[in-house]
Amino acid sequence: MLNIVLFGPPGAGKGTQSEKLINKYGLVHISTGDLFRAHIKNQTELGQRVNALIAEGQLVPDQITIDMLEEEVSKNPGAKGFIFDGFPRTVAQAEALDTFLESKGTRIAGVIALDVDQDELTRRIAQRQLETGRVDDQADKLQKRIEEYFNKTIHVLPFYEGQGKLSKVNGIGSIENIFADLCAVIDRY
Ligand code: AMP
Repeated sequence: MLNIVLFGPPGAGKGTQSEKLINKYGLVHISTGDLFRAHIKNQTELGQRVNALIAEGQLVPDQITIDMLEEEVSKNPGAKGFIFDGFPRTVAQAEALDTFLESKGTRIAGVIALDVDQDELTRRIAQRQLETGRVDDQADKLQKRIEEYFNKTIHVLPFYEGQGKLSKVNGIGSIENIFADLCAVIDRY
């Protein structure tokens, strides 16, 4: 199996590039943000539990997120592999993912961090807010998400670096050029 973590702050282009990568490599895309938004839209019990946290730009507690992620992976038993987008966002999630994949006889092949500077992130998210109306893309909520990223999520990088699995790709430029750089990394796995 080919399991990849696409990593980066809000607005780094994880969703856009994931869509292209799943087409090229035949993988299943799991975005925990998309899954949560679907739960909220469908007003499931989980959606109601996480709605306020997500609207405020805070991370959902680890165990809730891990349980949802594991359920989603288990729904795709024949998958050639997965692209994890927006997960893991804490070291506890990264550890849980390792344990879970090991129990399935597989592992993370590599983690690719999309590198985008703060000004460009702010510009992209303002644009996305106009296009999608995502409440958590509004400036004050975005600020909280960025704080969560630097307080909790950034620590996931040294975790994977310690495993020798981390690569960085410049996330600024044309979608096609960034995609080509990502493919060059993945083709070495
Ligand atoms: P995203 O679409 O990946 O930016 O996620 C939107 C929101 O969903 C985040 O700001 C969090 O509130 C929540 N979320 C998504 N993935 C996770 C995760 N791995 N851990 C905790 N909360 C998450």
